[in-house]
Amino acid sequence: MKVGVLALQGAFREHREVLDALGVDAVEVRTPEHLGGADALILPGGESTTVSRLLDTSGLRAPLAVALADGLPAFGTCAGLILLAREVLDGRPDQVPLAAVDLAARRNAYGRQVDSFEAPLAVRALSGGPFPGVFIRAPAIVSLGPHVEVLAEHDGEPVLAREGAVWVSTFHPELAGDLRLHERFLQELT
Ligand code: GLN
Repeated sequence: MKVGVLALQGAFREHREVLDALGVDAVEVRTPEHLGGADALILPGGESTTVSRLLDTSGLRAPLAVALADGLPAFGTCAGLILLAREVLDGRPDQVPLAAVDLAARRNAYGRQVDSFEAPLAVRALSGGPFPGVFIRAPAIVSLGPHVEVLAEHDGEPVLAREGAVWVSTFHPELAGDLRLHERFLQELT
């Protein structure tokens, strides 16, 4: 099994380090050729407007959309969630999401005062106590389709969800110092 990490911009190294710590073969995805070798793809946090533009210039957008439509398992964290969403609110006008998960995301939803914070999260798919949620200029999930399963909430709002093989979090599991969420996502790939 080889897990791709979209490496156009943002926190891809940190995701790669988690995969390394789990002993999983990882490939940094910058071109359509790299994508061809991946059994799953992690879309990291960063700046979704920039990554969206780089998806076009790298030629990755079309093959990635096809792979996702064909069932490529994916995990989008923070900006990665924004990229995978069906709809983006407060995005740039030219920011076209991949629509791989049936939800609407609002960018930078927590405002300036609390734009970064940490909170312990009760994650339904995990045992072993709360997961440290690291939120950095996080988006919010503002609406969900009927087939999206919420796996964790913060203040009553969904922050971790999945629709089939596509997982999304508004927080950064790669910065939590806790491997359980990556491990849980990967568990279904083997
Ligand atoms: N605010 C960023 C965006 O809109 C996401 C922040 C993050 O990934 N940490 O793309």
